[in-house]
Amino acid sequence: MTEQEMSPEDLTTEQRKKRAYDEKYRAEHQEELRAYFRQYRFDHLEEKKAKAKAYYLANKQRLQAKQRKYNRAHTKDWKKWQNARMKAVWDEIFRIYGDSCSCCGTKTRYFLTIHHIHGREEEEKNTDRYSVWKRAVEVRDPKAYRILCFNCHLGGVHHNHGVCPHRGRKRVNEWDDYGDGS
Ligand SMILES: [Zn+2]
Ligand SMILES: [Zn+2]
Repeated sequence: MTEQEMSPEDLTTEQRKKRAYDEKYRAEHQEELRAYFRQYRFDHLEEKKAKAKAYYLANKQRLQAKQRKYNRAHTKDWKKWQNARMKAVWDEIFRIYGDSCSCCGTKTRYFLTIHHIHGREEEEKNTDRYSVWKRAVEVRDPKAYRILCFNCHLGGVHHNHGVCPHRGRKRVNEWDDYGDGS
């Protein structure tokens, strides 16, 4: 047991005095000490990183095995949590934007997706699906988002210049007729 861990009754008078002094000192110099440690951490950042890296490399196999074991043990929890989170955000999306394709009306959930009418904004481009959906919930604007099934979404947004082929073929380029069969 270190001196710090001992309860006051077990300390000698000398030790008690020292502890009281230290506590008083810390209380009176709180800001200074904080600034000092902040600066210290800042000055030793690279050193700390290098140490952590060296430690990792020296113990790589053991650490990786530990991580794998942890992942195995927690995969189920993690997936369960992720699914619950996804389902919650989807429920919210359907509540706000309707629960069927806004073009053909299909209601099968697995066929549905959310379409960002004005295209994804810059900051959304590299984020995960959850964040994109979450944003649709926050924005809550039917002029910005609509529910579409994958057919209407893919057929319209990607193959027919933004118009679902259910609403007619849109020809912009001379090669637009290629292979559409209509
Ligand atoms: Zn549809
Ligand atoms: Zn459609």
